[in-house]
Amino acid sequence: MLSIKPQFNQLIESFSEHKKPLWGAANASGGTNLTSEIVNFILTQALICRASDIHLEPRNGLVVVRYRIDGKLHEVLEIEETNNINILPRIKILANIPTDSVSSRKSWDGRFAMDYSGRKFDFRVATFPTVLGDKIAIRILIKDLDTTDIKKIGLSVADFSRLERIIQHKTGLVVVSGPTGGGKTTTLYSILRLLHRPSVNIVTLEDPVEYQIDGINQCSLKNTGKDNEDFISGLKSILRQDPDIILIGEIRDSESGEIALRASITGHLVFTTLHANSAIGTIVRLINMGVERTLVSYALIGTVAQRLARKICDGCRVPYKLDFNALNRLCVQCGLNPKLFSAPVKDLSAAGGMHYLSTEEKTPNEFIFYKGSGCTQCHGTGYRGRVGIFEVLQLSDTLREAIINKVPVTEMEHIAAREGFQSMAMDAIAKVKEGIVSLDDIYPILLEKSSS
Ligand SMILES: [Zn+2]
Repeated sequence: MLSIKPQFNQLIESFSEHKKPLWGAANASGGTNLTSEIVNFILTQALICRASDIHLEPRNGLVVVRYRIDGKLHEVLEIEETNNINILPRIKILANIPTDSVSSRKSWDGRFAMDYSGRKFDFRVATFPTVLGDKIAIRILIKDLDTTDIKKIGLSVADFSRLERIIQHKTGLVVVSGPTGGGKTTTLYSILRLLHRPSVNIVTLEDPVEYQIDGINQCSLKNTGKDNEDFISGLKSILRQDPDIILIGEIRDSESGEIALRASITGHLVFTTLHANSAIGTIVRLINMGVERTLVSYALIGTVAQRLARKICDGCRVPYKLDFNALNRLCVQCGLNPKLFSAPVKDLSAAGGMHYLSTEEKTPNEFIFYKGSGCTQCHGTGYRGRVGIFEVLQLSDTLREAIINKVPVTEMEHIAAREGFQSMAMDAIAKVKEGIVSLDDIYPILLEKSSS
């Protein structure tokens, strides 16, 4: 009736007190009550595992349950659907989605909320019709935002103080860039929490509002409409709310870019996101979108680029050795000097590693790295939680001039490095050396940086 995947057994055993009520119900007479019990079990187990999403997929009389934990999907349960057990309809009822067969030929959105362990969680439900029936995806959001402490998102000491200097400005534009699901929203929310005080009016326009923060006026784009015209009019109406600080979910085109930049030069501190690969790439992206070069140079005060990497589990972190040749093969592919992996972390954050590379220090034959060996705390995966890999660029007068003078990107990178900018690759290497992330997990970041 209900089978638990072997890799998930360890987890169930470590939380056996949560299993009892379900098993008790399973032995009873059944009925709709059993369905609720199983659904409750699926939801609470997801919270215990810190899953961000739950996927429920129909497969010939079975419902397969998968959790996304730290960015990766894990198949955790298989449930046989019987007359007594109807998981998918139960979730639709919870989310106020119609359950009849006609409605199941299209996609539906719904939501419900749940309290667990004294915290509030929001479940965003989306159905998708497949040939075997409706597939359901549930995104889990924490409604109170205790978790977004800016000290805990992974900024290095140098990047944190750089960001502090940037957000002390009363006016200007700050752009956070990175891929979807790369932690941009968390970074922006933790900045807003840092800036929030009674004397400051913070207004947001988001698509949609992902977390609610006390004392901040958040507006979901869903309420104002989806198309661009509504987005622009939403932006204009936000400006009439006498804001000090504005968060715009995303700059989509030159028109919204211009509005954001103009707002930032007329007495507002504006935050937004953009799809760009790097902190300097963000400048280029704004200009390529058609935003005036002089406006970018004048209004932009800082850019943050980031990726997310899985954190090695504290419960089972173990060191291992890699010889020079193995490391060198990886480094050659990424265009990096292996010597950086033996550099003191302080040198990686001081001058982009350049300072260390010029020293006489010999490259060692062996390097120490860390990985998770798997334990009950991490359900045997070796990872627990995620951390941001960052680069934070503060726009200096030299960089502003470089923007106006159409200086090439590589030259801008050299200017930034001279001014103490630490690239994402250096931040990644520093976090590997500190045993926070694994070499395997940052390798794609290093590779991507070398090709961008
Ligand atoms: Zn572990």
